Amino acid sequence: MSRVRVLVVALIALAVVAFFTLGGQRYFSFEWVKEQQAAIQAYYDAHVWQTALAYFLVYVAVTGLSLPGAAVMTLAGGAVFGLLWGTVIVSFASSLGATLAFLASRFLLRDWVQTRFAGYMQGINEGVKKEGGFYLFTLRLIPAVPFFAINLVMGLVPIRTWTFYWVSQLGMLAGTIVYVNAGTQLARITSLKNILSWELIGAFLLLGFFPLIAKKVVDAVKARRVYARWQKPARFDRNLVVIGAGSAGLVAAYIAAAVKAKVTLIEKHRMGGDCLNTGCVPSKALIKSARVVSQMKNCKSYGLKNASVEVDFAAVMERVQRVVQAVEPHDSVERYSGLGVECLRGEARITSPWTVQIDGKTTLSTRAIVIAAGARPFVPPIPGIGTVDVLTSDNVWQLRSLPRRLAVLGGGPIGCELAQAFARLGAQVTQVEMLPRLLPREDVEVSALMAKQFTGEGIAVLTGHKALRVEAGTLVCEKDGREVRVEFDRLLCAVGRVANTKGYGLEELGIPLTKSRTVETNEYLQTLYPNIYACGDVAGPYQFTHTAAHQAWFAAVNALFGGLRKFRADYSVIPWATFTEPEVARVGLNELEAKERNIACEVSVYGIDDLDRAIADGVAHGMVKVLTVPGKDRILGATIVGEHAGDLIIEFITAMKHGIGLNKILGTIHIYPTLAEANKYAAGVWKKAHAPQGVLRQVERFHAWMRG
Ligand SMILES: Cc1cc2nc3c(=O)[nH]c(=O)nc-3n(C[C@H](O)[C@H](O)[C@H](O)COP(=O)(O)OP(=O)(O)OC[C@H]3O[C@@H](n4cnc5c(N)ncnc54)[C@H](O)[C@@H]3O)c2cc1C
Repeated sequence: MSRVRVLVVALIALAVVAFFTLGGQRYFSFEWVKEQQAAIQAYYDAHVWQTALAYFLVYVAVTGLSLPGAAVMTLAGGAVFGLLWGTVIVSFASSLGATLAFLASRFLLRDWVQTRFAGYMQGINEGVKKEGGFYLFTLRLIPAVPFFAINLVMGLVPIRTWTFYWVSQLGMLAGTIVYVNAGTQLARITSLKNILSWELIGAFLLLGFFPLIAKKVVDAVKARRVYARWQKPARFDRNLVVIGAGSAGLVAAYIAAAVKAKVTLIEKHRMGGDCLNTGCVPSKALIKSARVVSQMKNCKSYGLKNASVEVDFAAVMERVQRVVQAVEPHDSVERYSGLGVECLRGEARITSPWTVQIDGKTTLSTRAIVIAAGARPFVPPIPGIGTVDVLTSDNVWQLRSLPRRLAVLGGGPIGCELAQAFARLGAQVTQVEMLPRLLPREDVEVSALMAKQFTGEGIAVLTGHKALRVEAGTLVCEKDGREVRVEFDRLLCAVGRVANTKGYGLEELGIPLTKSRTVETNEYLQTLYPNIYACGDVAGPYQFTHTAAHQAWFAAVNALFGGLRKFRADYSVIPWATFTEPEVARVGLNELEAKERNIACEVSVYGIDDLDRAIADGVAHGMVKVLTVPGKDRILGATIVGEHAGDLIIEFITAMKHGIGLNKILGTIHIYPTLAEANKYAAGVWKKAHAPQGVLRQVERFHAWMRG
């Protein structure tokens, strides 16, 4: 402990001793409190107006200067003035004090904040102009945000002073009554036995439950406002209608059917959505063929003299389709109908918060709706891009002849997976990424490993290259102020995916989007309309099949049972993998994010080049990198680069989800020789760094002594 801290502790101890030595304990006695109360009451009875005025002025000063103590003063107000007058005085004093604090904040800080944070303030200003009064009212009614903070923050935004005053007074009235009432009950205690009186317990229960009750009231008021322009049907045909039969929609519909709700799933295109038809499944099938080619070409390193390999690209792509067909039954109409889901084909359109129209004809009424409309590849508006037949993850599966020269735009997971697969199948691939490295969300050394692997496989990796325009068969990029020309036969765009938000009623219902153009939802996955939910790629922020399914559970359960209990979507442990070779898998934080978010962590790295099984398999490359809380074995995140990283990461996902630390992973038997041992060795790296050196020195002495 530092000397300053020791001094502070000593001073506090001294003050405590002095307090009790001088008889301070009498202030803790019930009798003392009652004496003070009686004295105040006597003064009040003799000087009614003076007492009320003095209390009023002190209250205004405390709140106007944003000093702590308003809650205690309110209780005291109830104790002295009773429920009616206590409420009247506190209500006016708190509103006046709040307005003074508001004006001070406005006078001193508003111009500076508005100029300094102009970007952030623009949206807030617009929101306050539109909804300011109602927003303030809800903040006042639900005492979740401290009173003084609301005053100061509201001073910075464009709300009129008079509006601030009266909305504050109205919004705080219910809370004031509850507090003043608790004060009056406190004043009635005549002996310690009365503390357990029903009146007092009731008053404090009300105090405790008030924020919850207020929140329910505000939610109900908000819902009324949102639904005001719509005619609610008297009864509903269905409990739930799900729009889109991709990963999210299928799970939402399945959950609903499993709990015996009447659910309809509407799909305009193909059951299974992106994942089955144009995403995970075909990409992994293509990657497998490409990997076989790579292994065969690498046969000499396994002691095989030669293995001739000739790629029949059309046959590879036919196999991809066969794999899709083989998985198709899992997502089929037959299977889901059998599970109790009504599956309808057609384009869904939300026509009111409770009605969905199919292909402009049939209209279904439903108590709740889940939007699971997915996303589509984004094609950037680069000049000239419209002149070429661009490949995306949507149409690349129709190719039957291998492009000789393939330019891949985008260095994210999809770009990397496809670039490597096409290169291995024989295309001359140039990968163009605007940012300085591939897989920019991962740690720097992960990107470096990937770039080294790709370059070694003959892929031209052009990071830090910005695509400027497309000219007949050439992608013109810019790197450090000079133009770089990339000749191609086909151009594959993999620069991200945009949510499908147009053409099915969101605009008409006024359902807002986020800055990333996904459907805006709250933590329960509710949109602006509490009975309309969104999940999967259309809602973000993650774009994976497993996160879509995860969200779908919350959306479906909340949609069906939200009236009883709602569940917040839990994003505490989100894993993902990029299925390149080597694979990259991650859960939780990486070092980059920990730095960005200023989260202190320790890093333990185990190099897979040292792992027996990896050496035997000829895949001795990559690493296991684990982030832990400093001085503790609690895992904040893990990244694995290497063979089967996507499978190996499960151990860390489970550990994080269930609060298991590295000590326990280290203490678990891992089968020898497996790749999974790498996880245990990473835990060992952490343990070694935390070996208790002092204890070990003593033990060493003990052994020396034992040897005689
Ligand atoms: C090449 C590629 C590889 C990928 N690899 C992986 C991977 O390895 N692992 C992973 O986790 N994720 C992967 N993904 C991402 C994954 O595919 C998506 O995150 C997932 O499919 C999202 O599911 P969803 O249900 O939200 O949307 P989608 O699967 O897109 O489903 C939305 C469905 O809604 C339908 N629809 C839209 N509007 C309407 C309407 N008005 N009426 C009726 N139907 C409508 C669409 O036709 C579509 O079928 C990959 C994606 C791509 C492109």
